[in-house]
Amino acid sequence: MSGPASSRFDPETRLRLRRVWLGLLSYLMFLVPMSIAVQAGSSTMGWWGVAGFTSVAVTVNLLALLAIASGWSKRFADPSLLVPQLVAAMLLALAMIHFFEGEARSVLLLLFVAIFFFGLFGLSTRQYLRLTTGTAVGYLAISIWELAGSDAPREAWLVEALRFSALVVITIWMSFIGGYIASIRRRLAAQRDALEKANSKLRELSIRDELTGLYNRRHLTERLEQESERGRRYGQGFSVALIDIDHFKAINDSHGHAVGDEVLVQFASILRLQARFIDHVGQAPERTLGRFGGEEFMIILPGTSLAGARVCLERMRAAVTQAPFETSAGPVQVTFSAGLAEQRPDEAAEALLQRADEALYRAKEGGRDRLVLDIPTQ
Ligand code: GH3
Ligand code: MG
Ligand code: MG
Repeated sequence: MSGPASSRFDPETRLRLRRVWLGLLSYLMFLVPMSIAVQAGSSTMGWWGVAGFTSVAVTVNLLALLAIASGWSKRFADPSLLVPQLVAAMLLALAMIHFFEGEARSVLLLLFVAIFFFGLFGLSTRQYLRLTTGTAVGYLAISIWELAGSDAPREAWLVEALRFSALVVITIWMSFIGGYIASIRRRLAAQRDALEKANSKLRELSIRDELTGLYNRRHLTERLEQESERGRRYGQGFSVALIDIDHFKAINDSHGHAVGDEVLVQFASILRLQARFIDHVGQAPERTLGRFGGEEFMIILPGTSLAGARVCLERMRAAVTQAPFETSAGPVQVTFSAGLAEQRPDEAAEALLQRADEALYRAKEGGRDRLVLDIPTQ
């Protein structure tokens, strides 16, 4: 099914519906030889028979469409209803065979090839072989039923044996080839799924800092570029803060690198918690917090003025200094210094970062444990 009507279905359902339409088309395709056989007198079904078979085929397909489109078929292990559709097609083909004679009956065996081709959409070899058994038993039953009662000549039995053996050989062959192809398709689909999962995991890993789980420098730089581009284009300003832990080297030196790492992890989770805190009314755009390197962090605050950024950073400072960090080497008091800057109109990311860095430097120079705002001088 194509067109806007199909867009309300998920891609898998759309695919299943398309297959049913393809099946219906295949049935209708056989209207041509069927009609010619009736016209030529090689079929005893007559035009009413043609109409009857067509309506049964169309009904089977419509039921399948309905079951799939309504979502009802999702309760089954095979929501595409491939097996029931193939079994229905096989029964129809067997019934049709009964009404065909001579050469026309041999031609009609092609129907089974078409049906078995459909199995490529997912039949296993085992399912294929079951379908083959059903076809063979059905065909055998029909021919014996037709020939046994009559005084058919030996030749008629031989022709039927010929047809039967051709049918069985071709369907067994299709079972193995088809089952194999279907298994390749399944494996490919599974590989594609696994690849997609691995890809999205890699994407996520590539923007994360391993130690703290915050965004890494690469992602921060990228977001800063995006935000600055947006600011220049739409005039929506943003602020950025560089955060640096005070005397972190001393923590490493007196307690060891591992404790330094513990402090970094705790520091990051406090910042993360505070960054999520929305302190102004309305919908604030997503803030980006990351580890810029070593014991230096950055937060990008879109749509936030310098004053707004200060509120956020003051809250972070209060949260960090409120109590010593509990580490495996005992409590460690942590403070940080931060430099804040707001994007000027048309300012590039690099220049803005430079100003934030200079403000951070002034915070360190001024005695640490403080914020310094880079106040614009117009
Ligand atoms: P300041 O107040 O001037 O910022 O002093 P500081 O000691 O914090 O700054 P400095 O740049 O002198 O030292 C930073 C230290 O951070 C040095 C480095 O070994 C340490 N460091 C960087 N990355 C890591 C890390 O991943 N884990 C640990 N434990 N230490 C780190
Ligand atoms: Mg430091
Ligand atoms: Mg530093």
